[in-house]
Amino acid sequence: MAAKKAKTARRETKEVKDPKDKAFDKGPGFHRQTWFRPEGVDEPGLAFVGYEIADNDENFNQFLHYDQLYTIRHGQNSRFFRNLLKGKLMGTKCPKCGAAWVPPRTNCWDIDCDLQETKWVEFPLKAKVHTWTVAGWSGRSSLKKLPFVLAYAKIEGSTVAIANYLQGIKPWEAEFDMPLKVVFVPENERVGAVTDFHFEPADGWKPGPMTPEKERIKKLVEPIYEWVKTLK
Ligand SMILES: [Zn+2]
Repeated sequence: MAAKKAKTARRETKEVKDPKDKAFDKGPGFHRQTWFRPEGVDEPGLAFVGYEIADNDENFNQFLHYDQLYTIRHGQNSRFFRNLLKGKLMGTKCPKCGAAWVPPRTNCWDIDCDLQETKWVEFPLKAKVHTWTVAGWSGRSSLKKLPFVLAYAKIEGSTVAIANYLQGIKPWEAEFDMPLKVVFVPENERVGAVTDFHFEPADGWKPGPMTPEKERIKKLVEPIYEWVKTLK
């Protein structure tokens, strides 16, 4: 799931002229781009290589290299991605019924709220495991992290769960409802994508005693640790 991070790439922010492409003429102008494309992106696969913030300081587009360059226009969800750059989790809340979402929803999904437009609110960097899976195989960009826990966790106050790595834990130790903290990568490594953060157990959390199920998972992942050691 994770995109390759452009850790070694130099970061450069530049002003750009109006594009010739007028397809998005009605939207806000984009004149500020930040690029961190690694030297000669030769590996086929995902890499976030840059982003641009609109002149209105709202809209946020991302440049994704996936064999060729794509622009992801985040439109009304832009605030969520822009704030990842600042280490903040923004979500939305319905002013009518109070339901709230991370990741954000633009309109309330409660039928009684009649597609009520939601408001942006900042969420705490706390979550709880809703469910999870232990990954024994993955795309190329995450192979060296195997075996890892992919958690679907509810950010405190959110109605829905969001997926991300659960780190700082043995794969067999994850538990339903376990408390988590949201941990961001250092600011100069953030790219405005969900891979800017991951989950870790909340401070003070201790795994419960071993169970037959935990023993089973532990046994299953043992050969994966051995295999990962053979990767360059
Ligand atoms: Zn509502």
